[in-house]
Amino acid sequence: VIELSGLGKSFGSLEVLRGIDLQVERGEVVCIIGPSGSGKSTLLRCVNLLEEPTAGKVVVDGTELTDPDTDLDGARRHVGMVFQQFNLFSHLHVLDNLTIAQRKVLGRDKKTAEKVARENLDRVGLAEKADAMPAQLSGGQQQRVAIARALSMNPRVMLFDEPTSALDPELVGDVLGVMRQLADEGMTMLVVTHEMQFAREVADRVLFMDGGVIVEQGPPSEVIGNPKEERTRTFLARVL
Ligand code: ATP
Ligand code: MG
Repeated sequence: VIELSGLGKSFGSLEVLRGIDLQVERGEVVCIIGPSGSGKSTLLRCVNLLEEPTAGKVVVDGTELTDPDTDLDGARRHVGMVFQQFNLFSHLHVLDNLTIAQRKVLGRDKKTAEKVARENLDRVGLAEKADAMPAQLSGGQQQRVAIARALSMNPRVMLFDEPTSALDPELVGDVLGVMRQLADEGMTMLVVTHEMQFAREVADRVLFMDGGVIVEQGPPSEVIGNPKEERTRTFLARVL
């Protein structure tokens, strides 16, 4: 579903991604780990062209996003993204947070959008919070709303950038639980995370990035359990 080839990104003279090749299959869960500044967020942002690559190709669900003729807004609809900061609209009720893009981008009528929104709130265990304001929710609940909002667009792929890093430790589990459930349902997911336990248990494949390249990749039992590369070992020794 996701195909990156020769992906490069520079900010001025700073080369952040250096020729990344990556294919993610339908239903696959890929976790990306690596030190701060290694280019993880930049890679994720290049997948939906929030960041424009300076080299290489991005293909999502058969559409080349790096082709200048591609309707980017159209293609981005199929890619859901969840950030560390939840980015909810603070002046809108939870339900409206979930319906606004469905109505504006997908052109769904109010009734349909609300039905889809309620189904997805139920999916993340927050059916009863439809009428709450974001500020009335805990961080973990807000992040689950953000996930439900992304799901309401019926994405073919979900990207997560450290979705639990801003949360108090006791709230992390609920969010990871929702992500685990999504993975079980067969969602294709690309997840930047520091949660090694989650990566071990849920990922089909783990990528270790450093210095803008994929240093090592494979099943979690190998990359986390028995890394081949010295750089991976050094990183894991610090985070585990
Ligand atoms: P972290 O674990 O801290 O989130 P990361 O692996 O996600 O790190 P990136 O955010 O992708 O790292 O950043 C990689 C490098 O690119 C860093 O050196 C960062 O300063 C630089 N960078 C990222 N975005 C920009 C930008 N818009 N302009 C200039 N430099 C940037
Ligand atoms: Mg980052």
